[in-house]
Amino acid sequence: MDDIDTPLLMAGGRLEIDLGALADNFRSIAARVAPARAAAVVKANGYGLGATRAAAALAEAGCRDFFVAHLAEALAVRAALPGDATLAVLNGLPSGAERPCADAGIVPVLNSVEQAMRWRDTAAALGHALPAIVQVDSGMSRLGMTVEEAAMLAADASFTARVPVTLVMSHLACADTPDHPANAAQRDRFIAAAALFPQARRSLANSGGVFLPAAYHFDLVRPGVALYGGAPNDRGANPMRPVIRLDARVIQCRSIGAGDGVGYGLSFAATGETRIATIGVGYADGLPRTLGNRGAAWFNGVRLPIAGRVSMDSITLDISALPDGALAAGDWVELIGPHQALDDLARDAGTISYEILTSLGHRYHRTYRNGDLKGQAEGA
Ligand SMILES: *Cc1c(COP(=O)(O)O)cnc(C)c1O
Repeated sequence: MDDIDTPLLMAGGRLEIDLGALADNFRSIAARVAPARAAAVVKANGYGLGATRAAAALAEAGCRDFFVAHLAEALAVRAALPGDATLAVLNGLPSGAERPCADAGIVPVLNSVEQAMRWRDTAAALGHALPAIVQVDSGMSRLGMTVEEAAMLAADASFTARVPVTLVMSHLACADTPDHPANAAQRDRFIAAAALFPQARRSLANSGGVFLPAAYHFDLVRPGVALYGGAPNDRGANPMRPVIRLDARVIQCRSIGAGDGVGYGLSFAATGETRIATIGVGYADGLPRTLGNRGAAWFNGVRLPIAGRVSMDSITLDISALPDGALAAGDWVELIGPHQALDDLARDAGTISYEILTSLGHRYHRTYRNGDLKGQAEGA
């Protein structure tokens, strides 16, 4: 599931992933929510950073509960996990996927009564109990059964005899807005639904929910983006350690004069003598076109605005703020790092850190730092 390593000489950009920071973020969340436990969401290839590398580092940091979105993701990440870890599929199972899921010891999230009945039938056919997670919809109207459906299930002996419900979960729609009144309303509905399965653990909080009061943590929290360094909410400074650094190589520099245009559509026009640097990353590398004439890169602490549109494989920067000759072909400029956080770039692009992370392309030279030995061996 991890990317094939592109040699640095042959890449237009380099992506450094700090597995030590990832592990630190897990440990700080685990400490924050204790005595509740922290799971890790490693869907979408570990939010773009490499699911098996991320999962191995998180397991090394003590994580034993993992979530992905699809069964295919679960099968790809399973080998990176210790034998005592549980791995669950948030989106549940399409009809027919029950057997491969059961055979692999992966736990489905049952989002509907139909999914629950098929899982029960699979347990019956196999002749042994099959644990599952029940998701109830507490107000987001995306996934999960209604409280009434969950009540039906809890009262159905043909289900409860074959399917031990290990966890009842729901998902918050507005956890990144701590004051939003929907949070408390969803929590109340969740508590009522979870009471139907008194033996099951309870889980409601994503990254945003981790930073809500302890009354939102229940037995297990399910952070994703905060582990990978994204801001968990819209409040103040981001408490998480940055996990990625992204730099792009300067391919060419030139000087242009008043009236000269830059890039497709000539959407940037120089008003005077202007120096332009072209860097070797573009929207095919996950840098959104919305950064055109809005975003920036950084060099030696100087902000270099994006001039013109973002191309597929390159971006043009106005480097006039630098001394002449300070930047040349072969140099590297920062796109995400100490001067420009992941969330800064996302804001400039009009999107969220999640979309930047999961869009990171497959052409970068990727390096993993501070991984445990097991994680290192699994790379490449
Ligand atoms: C993606 C997801 C999470 C993780 O969300 P973050 O906001 O990234 O922390 C948790 N629970 C469910 C159901 C999800 O789909």
